Amino acid sequence: MKTFNIGLLAHVDAGKTTLTEQLLYAGGAVRNLGSVDSGTAKTDFLEIEKQRGISVVSSAARIELPEKDVAVNLIDTPGHADFSASVERALYILDAAVLVVSAVEGIEAQTELILDALKKTKTPTIVFINKIDRAVSDVAGVLKALEKQAGGCLFMSEVTDEGSRECSAQNRSGDAFFEAVCEFVADADDAFALKYLEESVTERQAWLSVTQLFLKGEAMPVFCGSAQLGMGVSQLLSFVAETADSSGGKAALGGAVQNADEPILSGIVYKVTHDKSMGKIAHLRLFSGEVKSRGEITVSSFPERQKVTQVRRYVGEKFTDIGLLSAGDVGAVCGLSHVKAGDTVGKAWKAQNLAFSTPFLSVQASLTEEGDIRPLIAAFEELSDEEPSLSMQYESGEKELIISVAGKIQLEILTAVIKERFGLNVLFSPPTVIYKETIQKSGTGFDAYTMPKPCWAVVSLDFEPLPLGSGFVYDKGNVPNDQMFYRYQRHVETAVKETLAQGLYGWEVTDLKVTLSGGEHHTVHTHPLDFFLCTPIAVMKGLKNCGTRLLEPYQKLVVSVPEEFSGKIIGDIIAMRGICENQTIADGRFLLEATVPAAESLDYSTVLLHKTGGKGTLRARFCGYRPCPEGFTAETKRRGVNPLDRDKWILTRRSAMGK
Ligand code: GDP
Ligand code: MG
Repeated sequence: MKTFNIGLLAHVDAGKTTLTEQLLYAGGAVRNLGSVDSGTAKTDFLEIEKQRGISVVSSAARIELPEKDVAVNLIDTPGHADFSASVERALYILDAAVLVVSAVEGIEAQTELILDALKKTKTPTIVFINKIDRAVSDVAGVLKALEKQAGGCLFMSEVTDEGSRECSAQNRSGDAFFEAVCEFVADADDAFALKYLEESVTERQAWLSVTQLFLKGEAMPVFCGSAQLGMGVSQLLSFVAETADSSGGKAALGGAVQNADEPILSGIVYKVTHDKSMGKIAHLRLFSGEVKSRGEITVSSFPERQKVTQVRRYVGEKFTDIGLLSAGDVGAVCGLSHVKAGDTVGKAWKAQNLAFSTPFLSVQASLTEEGDIRPLIAAFEELSDEEPSLSMQYESGEKELIISVAGKIQLEILTAVIKERFGLNVLFSPPTVIYKETIQKSGTGFDAYTMPKPCWAVVSLDFEPLPLGSGFVYDKGNVPNDQMFYRYQRHVETAVKETLAQGLYGWEVTDLKVTLSGGEHHTVHTHPLDFFLCTPIAVMKGLKNCGTRLLEPYQKLVVSVPEEFSGKIIGDIIAMRGICENQTIADGRFLLEATVPAAESLDYSTVLLHKTGGKGTLRARFCGYRPCPEGFTAETKRRGVNPLDRDKWILTRRSAMGK
């Protein structure tokens, strides 16, 4: 049986979970329809998901269609922006995406973000315009917006009685539709266009071309329906079953690692969950190779091989023991005690970094009662394996720890999970923005750690600024082995990365290239860990030579208010140091797009609500880091000793090394 992995993606409340439920029903996988409104949906089974009626983590379900020799794994993903990291991980495992857009609310902030990511990764995408039963449904409007935002839309449905519960959605057919399909393909494919002009194409050829364009991520079929009424669902499922192909798409992300003779094991862990009796469960997708119960595998966050004790197939919270997971499939393995969400599986390979979910807020977590903080640290260690973007930081002896989050809903969910699972009452400080640092100009960093003996490590580094958004690049340089052993050179690389986590002002340093330009060991005096001690000093001296400046996170805001508020809103944006980018007035409403520092706009949705008496709406999304204004400073507390305090640094590190 061929296996396809389809993800349902959308803004919160567009209807993903409802559509998943209907697809399971239409595919014969369940006999009773569950619903999000009564807390019985298969893929929203966490207590917190049932209570709040939103999906918090992605979860899998499966349809088997023996008559078509196809199995479809459905991955239902959370739609709230705070859980984007989970959505991003799901993107790596999908053969195709179903993007659900509400015919009432239209393209919302999270939809925009996802559409961009789907385009960037060339993931084959099908759109399902949902809720056509609702009175204010506007399919034509949504279609227009989709075409503007993403392009390549092929409208597949014939809608009647839009806006009422009598609505229906059938597949378009007939000569006019065939012509529309041909014109659509001809637009994208010159060879086809020529054939079409000669009037020699058959319907089969046309659909073959549509399928190919779809699999390349260049054509986006658009279906309509009502998930709640089960309308348009079987049409969507037929299309998925007939056109999806697990060989498409993912090569772009570095997924399919193939060897001429035998397929190498390669996969990706998209989710880690916790089971009371089995401990950690790693949910993964395999691109090649297979994973067997009692076999051994390696994951990227841990160097040793680990034994798999069970291989499971999950449908919602229920599972079956399947013993073997084959290439192309999605399943879960038990027995790995060291594994993090986002890990790659098998021989070392690196997935392309999509980086569309950057948590830019920092909060302190402490316990409501005075007392031992260790249980809270243990809780966050476990939760960080499930959500590595929390990036927990803790300095021994402190009363609180620090985590990164994407927003307030994530904090609410964390509070509930920590209470439910660990029995702890956690308290979070108000969130503050996470700044970053970047270097002002090129320069060098050097240190010679040769006293007091026994020791010897000399490190010389070149620093070079990179354009905004480039991240950190390390260049190994070409220092010969007899001058500095390669194993020491690897120590330097590790230590440079670690040191850049806290720059001159304590923030992560980014958008720069560091090259190992020179250095040496000493055959007699060098202690095995000396380069871990020397490199941080060289790095910090380099940063000091180059100077660093601060970067701050920005959000893109889309504000819609009644026309009479336009002046006030523009004033607000300017007061928040924002830049107005696009403004239009239509049907008595003023629509403004602006980019604004996140630090200034965290509470703007509440402000807007008050100012407009509830008549204004706001969409916000993270849009990258940009320089802070000249002269702006913000420092964050440094963890540990600053390597620039050289004597103290050497003393603490030496005693930690037992020298
Ligand atoms: P998700 O957040 O994208 O998973 O959305 P849900 O599936 O949880 O649905 C959000 C709400 O919209 C629920 O109250 C659903 O009952 C409702 N809903 C979903 N699909 C439809 C539809 O086609 N028509 C109508 N009228 N309501 C729908
Ligand atoms: Mg949902």
